[in-house]
Amino acid sequence: MPTGKTLDGKAALVTGSTSGIGLAMARALAMEGCSVMLNGLGDAAEIEKTRAALERESGSAVKFHGADMTKPEEIRDAVAETAKAFGGLHILVNNAGIQHTAPIDDFPEGKWDAIIAINLSAAFHSTKAALPHMREAGWGRIVNTASAHGLVASVNKAAYVAAKHGIMGLTKVTALETAEEPITCNTINPGWVRTPLVEAQIEARAKENGTSVEEEALKLLSEKQPSKKFTTPEQLGGVLVFLCSDAAEQITGVPITADGGWTAQ
Ligand code: NAD
Repeated sequence: MPTGKTLDGKAALVTGSTSGIGLAMARALAMEGCSVMLNGLGDAAEIEKTRAALERESGSAVKFHGADMTKPEEIRDAVAETAKAFGGLHILVNNAGIQHTAPIDDFPEGKWDAIIAINLSAAFHSTKAALPHMREAGWGRIVNTASAHGLVASVNKAAYVAAKHGIMGLTKVTALETAEEPITCNTINPGWVRTPLVEAQIEARAKENGTSVEEEALKLLSEKQPSKKFTTPEQLGGVLVFLCSDAAEQITGVPITADGGWTAQ
């Protein structure tokens, strides 16, 4: 039954949406009437609780697919199952991501491979699998969660910065190849967002420097983010909904930064 919401009748796959930014993005889409396929790792009972709560809260259909973003076959299956479950796939959010910090000299090869697979290659596999569904629907939005680290670098993040710069390139090519179609592809580039991914970095720094977690959080912001405020997952959900709106139809192939001025410096 039509709900009169802006994404009524649309269906989305949001990778890495069992936590943090992805979960807030999935919520923002569901609240606008979009059917959502959640994806990510975690405890099965917790994920089911999250899924059911979001379905109740939004009134939209919410399902879960446990594809591991290091496995192309599972990624293709997540795309196919989303289209099958909701009768189409209109919105793809490539958001799953991991981090590991170490100087290049000590950077474990396995961590390099995992970060490139999850933060970059997964978006290629899902985009390739999703485009035919968007063409069939005659409408598509691909939104890749990049980072300030898609535009500038920091020390000790070789794999993450390489993957995030890579996703900027993939986004531009996807945008050009779909430019004449009713499909857009953009990135959202957050600065610091206080999710489990960043909390782990703050805690590690506090331990190393013998400071408190809150002191270290403020130091982290002061080094990079001129606003000295964390970007919130909810704000990023709002940016995603904007990119899925009619107003954003001619926005394609570009980064939308939400970094409190980080990359203006
Ligand atoms: P998070 O750790 O809270 O969430 C990461 C999500 O990815 C989780 O749902 C996790 O289960 C999922 N995931 C991890 N490995 C996976 C795999 N192999 N297969 C499937 N799912 C997997 O982190 P977050 O901060 O919400 O990060 C989300 C995205 O935002 C990432 O791409 C990250 O690089 C990006 N980002 C985060 C920040 C920040 O400050 N937190 C800033 C810029 C960009």
